[in-house]
This record gives sequence, C-alpha cells and structure tokens, in this order.
Amino acid sequence: TDPPPWVLVDRWLDGVLPAPDAVVAAQRTADGAGLPPIAVSTQQGRLLALLAASIGARRALEVGTLAGVSAVWLARALRGPDPVLTTFELSEHHAAVARENLAAAGLTDVVEVRVGPALEGLARLAAERPEPYDLAFIDADKPGNTAYLHAALALLRPGGLVVVDNVVRGGTVLDPGADAAARGSRAVIEAVAAHDRLTATVVQTVGSKGYDGMLVARLDV
Ligand code: SAM
Repeated sequence: TDPPPWVLVDRWLDGVLPAPDAVVAAQRTADGAGLPPIAVSTQQGRLLALLAASIGARRALEVGTLAGVSAVWLARALRGPDPVLTTFELSEHHAAVARENLAAAGLTDVVEVRVGPALEGLARLAAERPEPYDLAFIDADKPGNTAYLHAALALLRPGGLVVVDNVVRGGTVLDPGADAAARGSRAVIEAVAAHDRLTATVVQTVGSKGYDGMLVARLDV
C-alpha cells in the first residue's frame, strides 16, 4: 500500500526545505550506530531552529540528546556571544555518538553533553547558578515530562520558551490507561495549563513520524 499522504508530503517538503548537511550527517551516523530512529524529523528540526532564532536565543537546554540531531539544529540556531546548548543524556553510548556528531558539525565549543539521569543533571546545573536559558527542549522519557518542565522553568528567563516533544502520541494522550508515556504527556499539558505564568499551545503534527504533537509554552515576562 502507498504511504499516507502526510508521509509523501513530508518527503517532498524535506526536498524543498531540507536539513543542513551537518544534520544529514548526524542522522546518518545515528542510523549507522543502530540508534533508534526517534530524532526530530527535518521539518520538526526546522521548527525548533525557527523558534530559537525568533526569540534571539543564545542559551538553550535540552533533555534527551540521543545522537545530537536536535542538538545540531538548536546549536546552529543560537546567536550572540558565547552561545551555549546544555544537553542531558542518560545513555553513555548515545552521548558518545552525539559528541562525535557535534564535533563533526564544528559545535564542540557550543554544546555540552552531560551524561546521567536528566533530573539529577538539571538539579546540579541549577546549583551552579548559570546564566538564565532562553529555550528548553524536553524530549526524553515521557513520564518525566512534568518534572523536567519545572526544572527547566527554574533555569529559564522570562520570555523564554519550553518545547515538549511527542505530547499527542497518536491520540493516546486522551487515554490515561494507554501507557506511562501517554500519562506523562497528558500531565505536562495539564501542568502547563495550570501554571499562572505560562502561555501555551499544542501543535498537532503528522508527517514521517506519524501522528503526534509539540507543546510550546512561553514564560510570561
Ligand atoms: N532529542 C533527540 C533528537 O531529536 O535528536 C531525540 C531524543 S530521544 C527521543 C530520547 C533520549 O532520551 C534517548 O536518547 C534516551 O536515552 C534519553 N533518556 C531517556 N531517559 C532519560 C533520562 N532519565 N535522562 C536523560 N536522558 C534520558
């Protein structure tokens, strides 16, 4: 059977609005290393980069590095002196592939990959009292979403953005009985809605990665 139209459209879009060479190379290395094919798609990467660029982001946080595909998108979009992406990854193996990809992309000086459970890493980072971050991208274990949201908010400047990936999950976000990932996605949407300083939306998406969605929230000034 033919692929669904949104897959064909994504393939066409990826030709018209392609990923930069550094992202293509990073994805190829990830595939060669046998990492799961769960990085952001080209159009999703473009959205992340656009969001970062449109707020003039200089410092970004990421939870869930995998092979560094979204990290390359984000790091390339940062502007200003001393751009920084701090990214957290549980798996030593994933982090090693990411570091290789970031080096190949010439981004070693911009991106710091911190290995270990992200919640602990975020607490350690907060204790370092870093300069505030402009944008946080949350894309790791989904049951952790709400804890990552709150940890990221503590590091974010007013006017900063939090983006959470995979919050629709083929519609299972409507079914709390589905699995822990669906519950984690539902919980983070409800947490954002209950927060008195966040303005948010969920963009439902279809494409090469199926039916899903991205939460985008802004910390009010
Ligand atoms: N953001 C990446 C991209 O688009 O290129 C994809 C990230 S992938 C969906 C999720 C990653 O989160 C995996 O590499 C996984 O090992 C990592 N992860 C899972 N649990 C984690 C945790 N507790 N702390 C940090 N990373 C975690």
